[in-house]
Amino acid sequence: HDSLAEVDPEVAEAVRAELHRQQSTLEMIASENFAPVAVLQAQGSVLTNKYAEGYPGRRYYGGCEHVDVTEQLAIDRAKALFGAEHANVQPHSGAQANTAVYFALLEPGDTVLGLDLAHGGHLTHGMRLNYSGKTLNFVPYHVRTEDGRVDMDEVERLAREHRPKMIVAGWSAYPRQLDFAAFRRIADSVGALLMVDMAHFAGLVAAGLHPSPVPHADVVTTTTHKTLGGPRGGLILCREQYAKKINSAVFPGMQGGPLEHVIAAKAVALKIAASEEFRERQARTLEGAKILAERLLAADCAKAGVKVLTGGTDVHLVLVDLVESELTGRDAENLLHSVGITVNRNAVPGDPRPPMVTSGLRIGTPALATRGFSADDFAEVADIIALTLQPDPDIPALSARVRALAEAHPLYPEL
Ligand code: PLP
Repeated sequence: HDSLAEVDPEVAEAVRAELHRQQSTLEMIASENFAPVAVLQAQGSVLTNKYAEGYPGRRYYGGCEHVDVTEQLAIDRAKALFGAEHANVQPHSGAQANTAVYFALLEPGDTVLGLDLAHGGHLTHGMRLNYSGKTLNFVPYHVRTEDGRVDMDEVERLAREHRPKMIVAGWSAYPRQLDFAAFRRIADSVGALLMVDMAHFAGLVAAGLHPSPVPHADVVTTTTHKTLGGPRGGLILCREQYAKKINSAVFPGMQGGPLEHVIAAKAVALKIAASEEFRERQARTLEGAKILAERLLAADCAKAGVKVLTGGTDVHLVLVDLVESELTGRDAENLLHSVGITVNRNAVPGDPRPPMVTSGLRIGTPALATRGFSADDFAEVADIIALTLQPDPDIPALSARVRALAEAHPLYPEL
């Protein structure tokens, strides 16, 4: 019966401090969001106690009648929300989801095309130290130097040359939309499967504010905690013909007992993602990112070499290019941290600085949109960022402006 504070004051204090950090700073890490209290409640529930190896209706354990309900709700809602034929809601994370797809549909040593990590791809798209890079023959494609857009001519050329079994489309740091139909055409021309990893933009897709990859791809993977705004976790959508292979790759192929508390929280998040409130929030997310890009482009810091990759954004994030700035990515991240804005440094394509330093920033708007930020609020955030990145910023004054914004938008008041 004893509470966390009584049993483990050290952990309780760290959790309390983290809540305070989230409440008092502005979260602009593009892959983060604030899960609603309903999601936290499902995730923090007694469902964590339950073993449920298998799938709803076909479990290897007794007593699964209630987790069958929550898992089936998650499956049905995922299929309905994205218009998919099949959904597997069990992957513990986005990385697990991607690895399960490779395990289901490829053999070790098969050739796969994926966006280079240094150009915005994810670790699981063939990075050399990742399981994907170690077990499969990933051939990277890139963004064009001239305009920072994915080079579809190169994708086509590499597909002809390497005859991949699969093409992976998707990104962790890219401010534009991909042409899924073009990827499909290239995949078809060489008999390759097409997997789209929509981890970053799934919320935008759910809201109908970004083209859906589902009609084009054989398999679509995502995380549930980024723009989608749910618990940390993964999700796989696929055509019916791959359903059995995908299910058995997840369990028993890669995972044991599913995290039924997280799956219940996914069900809640997927219900919310079908709402008008969610659509409106995704629209503000996009608007906020556009405002940020426009104001950074027009601000004085642009004269000091602070640029916006691709000259703008179509999604929930802006990539800042500091190659010509005195500031490194690390300096800029630290400066923003000192005024209370959390972002992450990010390598830009062809980055001359080392990976721990970088020449870029990735700045996202999903968490602040969830917090209720309006267009005016985003304009104020953009101005604070621009002023922080120009020479000799007035840190105390900028911190006060951040505090005012945080106070105007209370986060988790019920906690
Ligand atoms: N795929 C993409 C495109 C991502 O950006 C990420 C996370 O950053 C993942 C997969 C992996 O998700 P997770 O961190 O849940 O393993």
